[in-house]
Amino acid sequence: MGVKVGDVQIGGGAPIVIQSMTNTATEDIDGTVEQVIALARAGSEIVRITVNTEDAAAAVPKIRERLDRQGCDVPLVGDFHFNGHRLLDKYPACAEALGKFRINPGNVGRGTKRDPQFAQMIEFAIRYDKPVRIGVNWGSLDQSVLARLLDENAQLPEPRDLDEVMRDAVITSALESAAKAEEIGLTADKIVISCKMSGVQELITVYQDLAERCNYALHLGLTEAGIGTKGIVASTAALAVLLQQGIGDTIRISLTPEPGAPRTKEVVVAQEILQTMGIRSFTPMVISCPGCGRTTSDYFQRLAQQIQDYLREKMPQWRERYPGVEEMHVAVMGCVVNGPGESKNANIGISLPGTGETPVAPVYEDGQKTVTLKGDHIAEDFQAIVESYVSSHYGKQPEKEQA
Ligand code: SF4
Repeated sequence: MGVKVGDVQIGGGAPIVIQSMTNTATEDIDGTVEQVIALARAGSEIVRITVNTEDAAAAVPKIRERLDRQGCDVPLVGDFHFNGHRLLDKYPACAEALGKFRINPGNVGRGTKRDPQFAQMIEFAIRYDKPVRIGVNWGSLDQSVLARLLDENAQLPEPRDLDEVMRDAVITSALESAAKAEEIGLTADKIVISCKMSGVQELITVYQDLAERCNYALHLGLTEAGIGTKGIVASTAALAVLLQQGIGDTIRISLTPEPGAPRTKEVVVAQEILQTMGIRSFTPMVISCPGCGRTTSDYFQRLAQQIQDYLREKMPQWRERYPGVEEMHVAVMGCVVNGPGESKNANIGISLPGTGETPVAPVYEDGQKTVTLKGDHIAEDFQAIVESYVSSHYGKQPEKEQA
């Protein structure tokens, strides 16, 4: 079922949406605006911000206004825990400025406060005509649901495995909360569900069950994925299996940023998962060989990196100017063993000289060798050739003059 968040549609046949989350204090308006713009520019189609204090709630409409003034219309999602009902009540402009509310049923309130506070959040969503994500997280699972399912399980003649009951509790918490939201009056086309787990196999099993048990739009993500390659690989392994099965309408990659690494890395990883799986295209793809004993130096690695960075950097302006360029393939190969073959298959490719080979680098465009580069400026020359290929192959044709 499709859910509209601002102008972005999640589910209902729409392309899989990429989202991200800031790690700035929302009260820091300058810092948050800057990071939201960076995330949106990198390709995040929805950005979530935490709304945890009165100052944060007061900052939200100012952030929205600043983004709009700077031409950034990416919808903002407010991440609420415990005090969301009070903040939305006291700061209506915050509710107005947000494109969606995220509610965690495990953190909406303790004991007898839980249900009325959840109901209040849903009433605000209805009043302001906003969708919600009911986002269950393994680490903050509603303990009352778990306790109930464990009790029920203990009464069974053949009790289920504990892990199975826990996974069921995650799904049940999400689906019972969604049913409550619908009873209160929120329609199903305003509800997105997530059940995030930190283990790859658990996440896959939970989402497979969830997809069978409901028709809500699904937000997919491995929570607490980790840092560096571990986080990237774990997220990719989990999401690839589910996406391949057609499960998931929007994704977020929850990477712990490496010290000094930009927050936008999570957006790049999300794009690369979708692009390498052939689901969506975002940036021209660089095909490069791993290098081996035949590569003469790290020059080849640097060139592959440089071209990849250059293509990504250019995309914000190319996206508008050169429609279809995101489908382009660029090969950067280390020697003549596989170089010419891969170069010919790509839109444009370069094959650097390997050990003992003549120090020249043939360039192929659309399968034909067009030039052979040599000397100290191969990288710059190749970049210029790529630029000119893009403008000649993807430039919008001027509209024909009316007769
Ligand atoms: S293309 Fe050449 S340099 Fe690259 S891995 Fe193959 S043999 Fe090695």
